[in-house]
Amino acid sequence: MPELILTKDLDVPDYHRLAGYRSRGGYGALKKALDEMTPATVGAEVKKASLRGRGGAGFPAGTKWGFIPAQTEKPKYLCVNADEGEPGTFKDKVIMERAPHMLIEGIILSCWAVGIHHAYIYIRGEFVKARKILQAAVDECYAEGILGPKVMGKEFCLDVTVHAGAGAYICGEETGLIESLEGKPGKPRIKPPFPALVGLFGCSTVVNNVETLAFVPHIIERGADWFLKIGSERNPGTRLFGVSGCVVKPGVFELPMGTTLREIIYTHAGGLPEGRTLKGVIPGGVSAPILTPDEIDTKADFDSLAAKKSMAGSGGLIVIDDSVCMVRLLARIARFFAHESCGQCTPCREGTDWAFKVVSRIERGEGQPGDVDKLASIATSFAGITICVLADAAAGPILSFVQKYREEFDLHVTEKRCPLENKAPSRPGP
Ligand code: SF4
Repeated sequence: MPELILTKDLDVPDYHRLAGYRSRGGYGALKKALDEMTPATVGAEVKKASLRGRGGAGFPAGTKWGFIPAQTEKPKYLCVNADEGEPGTFKDKVIMERAPHMLIEGIILSCWAVGIHHAYIYIRGEFVKARKILQAAVDECYAEGILGPKVMGKEFCLDVTVHAGAGAYICGEETGLIESLEGKPGKPRIKPPFPALVGLFGCSTVVNNVETLAFVPHIIERGADWFLKIGSERNPGTRLFGVSGCVVKPGVFELPMGTTLREIIYTHAGGLPEGRTLKGVIPGGVSAPILTPDEIDTKADFDSLAAKKSMAGSGGLIVIDDSVCMVRLLARIARFFAHESCGQCTPCREGTDWAFKVVSRIERGEGQPGDVDKLASIATSFAGITICVLADAAAGPILSFVQKYREEFDLHVTEKRCPLENKAPSRPGP
């Protein structure tokens, strides 16, 4: 079995409480850092480990920290992106509910390395249970002197605030998150300036994902060289893969980066239900372009999936079998993005809604000749020209579905119905 890092102790009783976490060596990395290392050496170790952000973009965390000015008169902030809203993604929730102290330890180490004295955990509003557990863990840390004016008795003060969002997907975009945290509508900002220079309250800000930060204590405890030996080239470490859809054992699996999609689906998620065949895999949340069955020997890491013109994204694999109508599935995805567009950019606001309407009429058997090409053309027209990447995220699935399952789309138009027999029953939409 591959080595587990984040999930190794999740079955320890009370691991979500301070006592349970400490019983497995929790906060040992923080003690080591505070006693034996400097902030600069902590940052250097994380940079050496090439810890790539697990939220979606895969940008190295240590490099990101390096963009924060060392000397500034203004405060600096860490925003923890816990707004896990990408459909098909549910792995950060596991950390927050079952190992909240691992996240907090990662936050403290990161703040110490960068010289930050206030961190905000921006958690998805719907994660009520996770928020309560996380808040209880933060409260325990204040009570035990792990947070507050003297972190573990050292001359370092740190406050952590847990802040619940109101359920907008776009607040998972880092500048939308910052706007929301400032009390404004979660509308992404034009970049530059980037948050590293002008972020929360106009100050230098690091935005890191939950899973990314949870790796930090382990890297400090065991060293960058150990971390670099796990995973694939340029993609070190493990990753939490959330597998959903048409598999026997859906769930979250911690596996080395570079594990193939085939192994994730068939070895760990139990394969497809009996009698079903694989039709496609969305490898990183619904914004990741879909892959066909002949592409599942691809490694599930940032570079390998980018080479396949898809993306590792949030690590949420959605497995699709032959009972699923691809037009209906795309209509659901298109509806999601149209609903979640913040509306600032005309191409995104109008284009995502238009695409949803076109794919919906194709799905209903009311498509006109030329509608499939029109759908692709709409997606092409709004990609790459907007303030944030939501428009690109909406375009990726449309273009890949139409390209790879073109015949199914065309049949909906020519036969004016879904050609699939015995397809999966329709479920109520969002
Ligand atoms: Fe808002 Fe869409 Fe523009 Fe992003 S691309 S800022 S979601 S309108």
